[in-house]
Amino acid sequence: MTEEKRTEIAAIGEFGLIDRLQQQITLQQESTVYGIGDDAAVIQTGELCTVVTTDLLTEGVHFDLRYVPLRHLGYKAVAVNVSDVAAMNAIPRQITVSMALSNRFSVEAVEELYAGIRLACEQYKVDLVGGDTTASGAGLTLSVTALGTAAPHELVYRNGARVGDVICVSGDLGAAYMGLQVLEREKEVFIANPNMQPQLESYEYIVGRQLKPEARMDLIHELRELGIRPTAMIDISDGLASELFHISHRSGVGIAINEDKIPVAEETGRAADEFRIDATTCALNGGEDYELLFTLDPADYERISKETDITAIGLVRKAEEGLYLITRGSNRRPLQAQGWQHFKKK
Ligand code: ADP
Ligand code: MG
Repeated sequence: MTEEKRTEIAAIGEFGLIDRLQQQITLQQESTVYGIGDDAAVIQTGELCTVVTTDLLTEGVHFDLRYVPLRHLGYKAVAVNVSDVAAMNAIPRQITVSMALSNRFSVEAVEELYAGIRLACEQYKVDLVGGDTTASGAGLTLSVTALGTAAPHELVYRNGARVGDVICVSGDLGAAYMGLQVLEREKEVFIANPNMQPQLESYEYIVGRQLKPEARMDLIHELRELGIRPTAMIDISDGLASELFHISHRSGVGIAINEDKIPVAEETGRAADEFRIDATTCALNGGEDYELLFTLDPADYERISKETDITAIGLVRKAEEGLYLITRGSNRRPLQAQGWQHFKKK
């Protein structure tokens, strides 16, 4: 056997791998407006553009069916794809659902999964139009693809942030991560003593954020009604820091974030204290919040009502300044993005 070069994926990370594969791909179709590198690809065949995005969830890596009800899993699988459509400032229209099932799953179990999928279809007004079903050697793998539409001038990419823009996030951050910590802790207790009932009452908000995230289509509609188009946008799936790196990388800009402006819910803060985790670290690196991170022209930011569920957390800077956090003590701390080393995490 000849000695072939072997590079561990961990050596370049998930994003490094995608970048490397992207470099080897040449686009041939005029209708392909945007390929790899954003929350969704963009295709134009008529006046409107179609956006396409897909996500793959694997049992044991992305979810644990010991505490994730199948109905919730179905809902979440749709919501996370709708969230990527939202991040393009597009409107979701259709989804397809593909699954690989081991013989551990009954017809009733699959129907439970689909009850959640149907609920999400109602919530986001999308049609389930197809998919694929196959056997799996072990566990469940679920993949959803979502299609959406927008006029070309409505689309928002990761690459449009300009120096001086206001950096905003919707909702609050870090809750889904803390919810996961609580669920994992209760699972350990349950494994040790199956008669113990999970203690989740005082963690309803954060557990809900982990199990049943919502795509922020409400905000997309609100901004459209105001006639405001963000200059850049991405949804927060891997954590705020990682998404800020994407915006910085694609837009060629620097980023300054004020630690004291990062929105963290009271319950998240309390749980973080209890687990002795820094709440800012949760918000920066936790992930799975599925909120929107976007940049706005300052004049547009002024036009948004202070009642709206968004927070200005910082400013777009020149690329030379890099990415940094202005801490509560007014120090500059360079941002680190764990999401850029996905395969290194564990
Ligand atoms: P998101 O977190 O928004 O779902 P990802 O980080 O998963 O985005 O993907 C970033 C970009 O890389 C997207 O454009 C996605 O379509 C593309 N991508 C991810 N995996 C692959 C792959 N195996 N082959 C081709 N493109 C991929
Ligand atoms: Mg995304």
